[in-house]
Amino acid sequence: MVKDVKDSTNMGRATSVISRSLSSKITRRAVTTASNIENIPRELLVEILSRIAENSFTDIHNAKLSCKDFHEAAEDTYVYRHMSLDSFPVVAWNPLSEKQQTFLTKCKECQNPEIMYRQGVLDYFTGKRPESALGHLQRALNANHIGALYVTCIILLFSGDDELKATGVGLMAGMKKSKYVRKRLKEHRDKLKRMLREMWVENPALRRRPVCCTRQDNHRRKRGWVDIDDDDEDVHCEGCSVDCEIRFLADSLPQWQ
Ligand SMILES: [Zn+2]
Repeated sequence: MVKDVKDSTNMGRATSVISRSLSSKITRRAVTTASNIENIPRELLVEILSRIAENSFTDIHNAKLSCKDFHEAAEDTYVYRHMSLDSFPVVAWNPLSEKQQTFLTKCKECQNPEIMYRQGVLDYFTGKRPESALGHLQRALNANHIGALYVTCIILLFSGDDELKATGVGLMAGMKKSKYVRKRLKEHRDKLKRMLREMWVENPALRRRPVCCTRQDNHRRKRGWVDIDDDDEDVHCEGCSVDCEIRFLADSLPQWQ
C-alpha cells in the first residue's frame, strides 16, 4: 500500500516532469513555427492558402483559426477567388445565415469562378434567366473553369441554331482531345449531374434533343455505341462523341424521364 502510494507519488512527479518538458517543447515548437510562418513571403502564403481553399472550405476555415498570419492572408481576394463552394448547396432550400450570406457575397465580389458558374447553370437550366447564363459562364471561363466551358457547349448544342450547334460540337470535341481536360471533364460532368438533381430543370430548349453525328456510313453500328470517357480519340467521330454527352445529360434530368 505504502509502496503503491510512493509509486503513485513518483508517477505524479514523473508525469509532472514529462508534462513540463512537453509543454516547453511545444512552446518552443510553436515559437519556431510562428517565426517560420512570419518568414514566408506573403504572396507565397496566399498561394498556399488558395490551394487549400480550392480543395476544401472546411480546411481553409480551420487554417484561418490556427494563427493570426493565416487568418490575415486567407482574407486576401485571391484566396476567395479560389474558394471551394462544395459545402454550399446550389439551391438553398433553407434561408442562409448572415455569416453564410456575407461569405458568398465576398466570393462574388472577388469574382470566384465557381459562384459565377453556379449562377450560369441556374440561369440556364431552370429557364428563369437563360439570356444571362452565358455572361456568368463567360466570367467563369475567363478563369479557365472547365465546367463553364462544358455548360457553354451544352447551351450551344441545344440552341436550335445549326451554326451555334456546329460551334458547340467543335468546342466539345476539342475538350475531349486533351487527356487532362477529359479527366477534369468527368469530374465536372458528375458534379453537374448532382447540381441538376438539386433544381427544377424547366428550360424548354432542353426538350429538343439535337443529333450531332452526320455521317452516313453506319460506323456506330459497326463499332457499337462509344464510351463517354473513351480515351482513344481516333476511334470515333466527333459527332458521336458529342451525342454521347447529350445522352448523358438527358439521363441526368430526372424530371424529364
Ligand atoms: Zn458518328
